[in-house]
Amino acid sequence: MLNDLKMFFEDIIFDLKTKLFSSKYILKGKCKRCGACCRNILFSTEEGYVKSKEVFLKMQKKHPYYRRFKISGIVENKKDFQNGALTFQCKFISKNNNCLIYPFRPSFCRKYPNASNELIYQGIETLDGCGYYFDIDKKFESYLK
Ligand code: SF4
Ligand code: SF4
Repeated sequence: MLNDLKMFFEDIIFDLKTKLFSSKYILKGKCKRCGACCRNILFSTEEGYVKSKEVFLKMQKKHPYYRRFKISGIVENKKDFQNGALTFQCKFISKNNNCLIYPFRPSFCRKYPNASNELIYQGIETLDGCGYYFDIDKKFESYLK
């Protein structure tokens, strides 16, 4: 009972914080053309991040679109919610980090790095070494004064 109450209030506090911080982050920096975002892609299903080759093979069978990706590694010793997730490399990234289908790249590539305020508030960050980063909007700093 006490635990339920604790969780109930934690949820309310989390919702309030999310609302308070929403729309308070902006994207800063610029692309360094390192290609990391094309080599460290995470996929998820309704069960969470893809963590096994078998799940990925099923995805490829169901959606041929995924055949353009290959497993490039695994997330280790990072934030709990990503730990163990497989990373994928797009087959269209060249050795020089150029996108071989640049004019026709998918919208998620055009939008990267793009994350909701809620995800940023929960601690999501751009990839290590990425030239972009999420920062608090100046309007929020003035809001604190
Ligand atoms: S990881 Fe960041 S800096 Fe590197 S290519 Fe992608 S957007 Fe550019
Ligand atoms: S389509 Fe191009 S920009 Fe998108 S992941 Fe592949 S190489 Fe990167």
